[in-house]
Amino acid sequence: MVLRVAVIGAGPAGLCAARFLSAEPDCYLPTVYEQTAAVGGTWVYTDRTGTDHCGIPVHSSMYKNLRDPTTASLVCEKHGLPFRTSQASSEHLTGTCRRPLSNGTDSPLEHPGTPAGQTNLPKEAMVFPDFPYDSSLPSYLPHKEVLRYLESYAEHFGLHKYIQFLTRVDTVKHVHVHGAVKWQVTSFKVTAPDSPSTEQFDAVMVCNGGYVVGHTCADARTTPDFMRYSVPYTPDIPGTDQFQGRTLHSHDYRVPEPFSGRRVLIIGALGSGIDICVEIAWVADRVVISHSNPPMMKILKLPPNVTQASRVESIVSPNTVRFQDGQEFHADDIVYCTGYRLSLPFLTPECGITLHQGRAYPLYKHVLNTNYPTMSFVGLPRNVTTFSLFQLQVKLALGVLDGSISLPSKAAMDQEIDKDFKTRLEKGLAPRRAHDIFPLYLSYITELAMVTCQPDPQGQTSMATDSVLHLFSDPQHFRNAEYKITGPGTWERIPHESENQ
Ligand code: FAD
Repeated sequence: MVLRVAVIGAGPAGLCAARFLSAEPDCYLPTVYEQTAAVGGTWVYTDRTGTDHCGIPVHSSMYKNLRDPTTASLVCEKHGLPFRTSQASSEHLTGTCRRPLSNGTDSPLEHPGTPAGQTNLPKEAMVFPDFPYDSSLPSYLPHKEVLRYLESYAEHFGLHKYIQFLTRVDTVKHVHVHGAVKWQVTSFKVTAPDSPSTEQFDAVMVCNGGYVVGHTCADARTTPDFMRYSVPYTPDIPGTDQFQGRTLHSHDYRVPEPFSGRRVLIIGALGSGIDICVEIAWVADRVVISHSNPPMMKILKLPPNVTQASRVESIVSPNTVRFQDGQEFHADDIVYCTGYRLSLPFLTPECGITLHQGRAYPLYKHVLNTNYPTMSFVGLPRNVTTFSLFQLQVKLALGVLDGSISLPSKAAMDQEIDKDFKTRLEKGLAPRRAHDIFPLYLSYITELAMVTCQPDPQGQTSMATDSVLHLFSDPQHFRNAEYKITGPGTWERIPHESENQ
């Protein structure tokens, strides 16, 4: 019997699901629902924020300067400061460093420049194991190159014919048909939202990007059922209502120019927070980055007009922010780089998944709905290698569907889920980080690889970890390095002379 499988989303996770489902036409017939007109998910950059031309919330949080030498802002390699290009190609970048002179003018010095903004991970650590990148590309890529890679993946495996573009999944329900569990998926063309259509499937794979935004709802923080109101996560800071400057979430950040000459507070110092901080520093008068990671304070090398501060305690006047150590900062703008809420707005209660404090429960191995294992989730874990992990998760879901992987009892799976959650809490993670894969990542992927009989991507994992450590220590230059694969699971990092100066 051919199983009909609904895949929600045609980002990297959904494409990977479609690739392996379509490889077995005698077993599966996939239908991929994609609300936009393109494959690639987050990697489809748009200048737009808010809603798209069809009124659908903009999905991608990608900022513009993820390395494009022709359009990116550049940093002088010598001073780590803004840089005007006189010649830009991916090979050779020269220009005028804007190091301010004492008389207030720009420095006329010519220095080599580095394109600003590119992937956080080297391409060697964000690759589908069966589909390499063009080896002539550098390790850290502009977002356009990642999108090109994903488009080639879809093209190569003939996935377009399975994708219903501009079609948004509205609800997923589980129904019993002649004693069998089926999934009823209701979707609508984004150009005709009033004409929904419903189809039935044997299985459903949720690949919607998980922590992404949907309908922005100002008071969602006080709304108990936030499944219906997915929003960027912003912490509750006392006094926020009186702040009179501009506020923005990193989801809506695209370019640094609007921050020219301003005093900006960045809240949060993970990948996006540090990236955006460095970009804004090129044009801003002053930037303060607030975070609660004291060891990082010691190692993080930032541009001269940036200082680090402890966690924000409160907003004490229309523009004054007070930090936990008692210091204050007069901010024109606040940029929240504080992550996202888990968003699965199409799941109805009958699906058997509850969402509480950012945790989808009960998900065995962060993938399988233990109430109905024909429902799976690909791509929920954060802060790790992405594409190779998606492949392992897809293989797990398909192994359960074709019976090649047998699951423990529901009670045993639920027990394991509880233990996993408890360990995270004991290691100090907040409940909303239930699917962050640190600190259990290595054992997690090794186990997935074993269960699915796939090669263990430990090499990619250690490379990704290495890259993240360099991001934290030298965010302005770490991307100039190159990674070289030296053998199965082994690699070498070739640092660039601009690092650690
Ligand atoms: P997404 O890429 O988010 O794709 C989900 C898809 O589902 C989208 O196309 C969306 O339109 C669709 N969808 C959602 N809801 C519905 C619905 N109801 N109906 C129909 N379709 C729907 N990862 C790395 O590996 N390396 C990096 O350097 C890196 N840098 C990043 C930088 C930024 C600024 C951001 C925001 C993310 C970055 N990431 C990076 C993480 C990135 O999210 C993943 O690489 C990857 O895109 C996740 O794939 P996904 O398929 O799970 O989700």
